[in-house]
Amino acid sequence: MPMATPPNPSVSAVVFDFGGVLITSITNQLSKIAQRHSADVPTMLAIMLGPHESGHHPWHRAERGELTVAEIQTELAPWAAAHNIVLHGDEIEALMSPGQYTVIQPMLDKVADLKHRGYKTGLLTNTFAEFRPTMQQDLRFDDFTAVVESFAVGSRKPELAIYQATADMLGVSHEEILYLDDFPQNIEMAQSFGWSTIQVSDPLQAIPDIEQFLDKYSE
Ligand SMILES: [Mg+2]
Repeated sequence: MPMATPPNPSVSAVVFDFGGVLITSITNQLSKIAQRHSADVPTMLAIMLGPHESGHHPWHRAERGELTVAEIQTELAPWAAAHNIVLHGDEIEALMSPGQYTVIQPMLDKVADLKHRGYKTGLLTNTFAEFRPTMQQDLRFDDFTAVVESFAVGSRKPELAIYQATADMLGVSHEEILYLDDFPQNIEMAQSFGWSTIQVSDPLQAIPDIEQFLDKYSE
């Protein structure tokens, strides 16, 4: 039976990361690019998407809305040089080109289902302004109580400000949030705010994990 209100007011909002949770991870694409440069995937990940710590890497700056996507590629040169790699100049384009990921439809259906049952739903994503039209094709924004995009907030995970902005935009306290993300550094910061978390490795497996968590906290 669908419930009109959450079973326990202590968990009233479920928040979803985009890459690796609602869609397949774009980091899968990195292996092809890494192969072209005879590099391993972690090295290419560090060059193109930057280190785990948030900072001045061009990908991070674009996610905070400080650079355009078109500006990322040339800014990557010193990061590649640190690994003795000279980029060809089309790596960002290759990574961002259409058709590089699949939408996890059962997870999108779960978002709609939770909202229907009275939970607040959130999208919390590190993303670029230029990517928004694509994301709006992939997702039904109406299924989300709040859409929190790093470029719009001017802060990216795992920086503090975007977690606070998420709670504010949802209108809930941190302890009321259950959060799904595939990156451990994002999960750790969420936990430091008091959010409950599910670290996603297989999105299809994470769907029953959500229900298991909500059942547990309804007793
Ligand atoms: Mg992710």
